[in-house]
Amino acid sequence: MIKEQRMMAEHGTLYVVATPIGNLADITQRALSILGEVDFICAEDTRNTGRLLRHFDIQTPCIAFHDHNEQQKAATMVERLIDGQNLALVSDAGTPLINDPGYRLVNLCRSSNIKVVPVPGACAAITALSAAGLPTDRFHYEGFFPPKSNARKQTLEDLKEQTATLVFYESPHRIVDTLTDIVDVLGKDRQLVLARELTKTFETFASKSAADMLEWVKSDADQQKGEIVLMIAGFAKDPDALPLQARQTLSLLSQELPLKKAAALTAQIYQLKKNMLYKLGLELGL
Ligand code: SAM
Repeated sequence: MIKEQRMMAEHGTLYVVATPIGNLADITQRALSILGEVDFICAEDTRNTGRLLRHFDIQTPCIAFHDHNEQQKAATMVERLIDGQNLALVSDAGTPLINDPGYRLVNLCRSSNIKVVPVPGACAAITALSAAGLPTDRFHYEGFFPPKSNARKQTLEDLKEQTATLVFYESPHRIVDTLTDIVDVLGKDRQLVLARELTKTFETFASKSAADMLEWVKSDADQQKGEIVLMIAGFAKDPDALPLQARQTLSLLSQELPLKKAAALTAQIYQLKKNMLYKLGLELGL
């Protein structure tokens, strides 16, 4: 497959290859053939990727490519690609660039007209969402929380009224502190799902209110180990709450018209029930 592409294009191709997040059987057939065929593999940790490659009997040489050398290495990689070599980018686990190195390299390839081909596979955030039982039609992925409590609380404040499901990666050493901040900022009743050790022997999903989750994780040291995706149900708007603009219109109109008429007109403009607006007007003393 790669040889055919080489004949067609002068430059090589960068393949962004997802690898398993625990269970090695989750590697795809396509990932295996590409890892076996490219000229070399850029790996976040060559020892870690070396173990994966040995498991699948792949001999392709590996080059270290991590956060600390990404900027400088990206230019060298692009030179190799321009020379016609094919290259695969992998991270320690899951999909490269998703809280893993690779952005600068992909960006430089795109601006240098080098073909970039994704080879999809595992990603902890998507794996967690797929089985959490929270709404998935809209989700907000935030990566890791800031390590310090003040910054973490600010992140939570900023997302307090986000209605999409929130998805975070979290370190097991900080999970208790993070849950404590969630209870403080989002309240004890916000629904959480904790997904731990996905695809591995001790895979765990727990769905609880923020306060119950904090107590449960605190009281069971096993829940403070391994790898964690923490999901937070989005902010639920009060179905009876009236839009701010409708409230303002009601208030303005009622200065000129009897409340009954102001409520009827506002209801017509915003397609709301006039009784609700009339009741609100009485409550507000309009
Ligand atoms: N690129 C990866 C991906 O596609 O998910 C994420 C890399 S990020 C540096 C590592 C974090 O992902 C872990 O700290 C954890 O929060 C989450 N993670 C990775 N593997 C996981 C697993 N098997 N179970 C739960 N969370 C996992």
